[in-house]
Amino acid sequence: MAIQVQNAFQSDERNMAGAAMVDLRSDTVTKPTPEMRRAMAEAEVGDDVYGEDPTVNHLERRAAEIFVREAAIFVPSGTMGNQIAIKIHTRQGQEVICEERAHIFNYEMAMLAHFSGCMPRPIYGEDGILTWKEIEKRISPKIYYRAQTGLIALENTHNMAGGSVYPPEIADEICDRAHEMRLPVHLDGARIFNASVALGKPVREITKKFDSVMFCLSKGLGAPVGSLLVGSRNFIEQARVYRKSLGGGMRQAGVLAAAGIIALEKGPERLREDHENARFLAEGLASIRGIAIAPAKVKTNIVVFDISGTGMSSEEMARELAAKNILASGIGPQAIRLVTHTDVDRAACTRALEGIREICR
Ligand SMILES: *Cc1c(COP(=O)(O)O)cnc(C)c1O
Repeated sequence: MAIQVQNAFQSDERNMAGAAMVDLRSDTVTKPTPEMRRAMAEAEVGDDVYGEDPTVNHLERRAAEIFVREAAIFVPSGTMGNQIAIKIHTRQGQEVICEERAHIFNYEMAMLAHFSGCMPRPIYGEDGILTWKEIEKRISPKIYYRAQTGLIALENTHNMAGGSVYPPEIADEICDRAHEMRLPVHLDGARIFNASVALGKPVREITKKFDSVMFCLSKGLGAPVGSLLVGSRNFIEQARVYRKSLGGGMRQAGVLAAAGIIALEKGPERLREDHENARFLAEGLASIRGIAIAPAKVKTNIVVFDISGTGMSSEEMARELAAKNILASGIGPQAIRLVTHTDVDRAACTRALEGIREICR
């Protein structure tokens, strides 16, 4: 059986519409800026497996400083960062509590089971947000004949729940109460800087109670490749071993870290613009017949909307949009996701809205 790869070039009509592509499938599609390209070309490098790449070391040091942690490690992808963290926090045969639509559960190739030998214990949370009250009920009783809970993993912002943001007091309470029970809490903070901008609070503050945090440079921050995992010195030492085991020991990785440093230092400043564009899209979508969305819930750069009122499937809508050089992701039979980022401006968003409006008429 052929496995389908999501690909913009599957649409034959793509090249027939004259206008430039508006790619709203994901914030991973951003291309490195000229400044990043220059930094990559000029990066000082060494063998990072020997710990000798000065640019990687600089990036890791800055990440640790910004999150006020002892250490950080540069990994090729967010998936690798999350799965290394899960491996360190758990033992085989344990359960990991996460939200039903969590990335670690749905989009990381079942590595929770494959690599860590754990079972996900997914819980539905309104807008992807879990509360201690709901989590507490699903923690295994301390009985020898029940698989034990090994970890709680939260996602902020929550991708599939429409970029929702954890209220800091809810996340803090989960961490505090979990720690009282000696349970670690990992944060999949792929888009934690989006949460930080939406809340107007620094990342160090909204992540301080988590045992480990993964965040992506390659999403809204705009780097071509890479994520970081931050935590205690001991935790990051273990992470280095697992990164190498998984084939993530990259040699002159400074060429990537150089772009990552620019993403980390300058990327957060412009996320507000993405959030404003997402809200603009949501408000426009709300006025289109057949589309269901609550614009007030759009707090960051992700817009998820229901199209069941149009009678169209997500696949049909995505195909018709692609014919107009507008790319969107179907994330359910009748749900579409749009993600704003640095390579789509307000004019591009206006064009996307017009395209959707025409299709829905
Ligand atoms: C993108 C993403 C990741 C990591 O994805 P990679 O493609 O492996 O870098 C992890 N969690 C969430 C919520 C994400 O959106």
